[in-house]
Amino acid sequence: VFVAFEGGEGSGKSTQSRLLASWVESRGHTALLTREPGGTEVGARLRSILLDPATGDLSPRTEALIYAADKAEHVDTMILPALADGSVVITDRYVDSTLAYQGAGRALHVGELEPLARWATADLRPHLTVVLDVDPRVGLARAGEPDRIEGEPIEFHDRVRRHFLDLADADPEHYVVLDADEAPEAIHERVRAALLPWLPQ
Ligand code: C5P
Repeated sequence: VFVAFEGGEGSGKSTQSRLLASWVESRGHTALLTREPGGTEVGARLRSILLDPATGDLSPRTEALIYAADKAEHVDTMILPALADGSVVITDRYVDSTLAYQGAGRALHVGELEPLARWATADLRPHLTVVLDVDPRVGLARAGEPDRIEGEPIEFHDRVRRHFLDLADADPEHYVVLDADEAPEAIHERVRAALLPWLPQ
């Protein structure tokens, strides 16, 4: 079973993915908790290029290709082997972050990015994507020190948020949108309820 958490800055994805991994393990499954960018060793190096403010401006296509490289390594060396072993894989961000940030947020066309991201991930799609929805004005204030992306204007983050919501609207069977303003434990309960039908008994 493959689960992705998506959402803007300060939406609580890392907290929720950790809570979910512990719960999955408490039910006797093996969980792999991972993230993008940076889930693998090479990915961690790519992540520092992508997020270090010292990198400065990157051409949007360069940035998109580095994210795609991170994804290919992540899917081929971690996610697919873990799924083959029967683990529940929980990733903090996946393809939708690329469509939302590099596509809707930046100047790239989502229609061009999507085939790139699908190719990079061998078209592996999550069974369930949890979108943690938060007003970026609230989320950014929670997130603390800005990295290279968080310094973008608020309209950028509004477009990103809108895109996550649109993706969820288009595929209700595989998405759940949760209000990230709720208490972490309350959100966690909703995540569990959404995942339950996908878990092997
Ligand atoms: O989820 P996390 O905060 O670790 O993500 C790190 C940063 O990478 C965030 O600022 C996010 O906006 C950015 N990001 C991005 N495009 C992606 C994935 C993450 O701009 N595809």
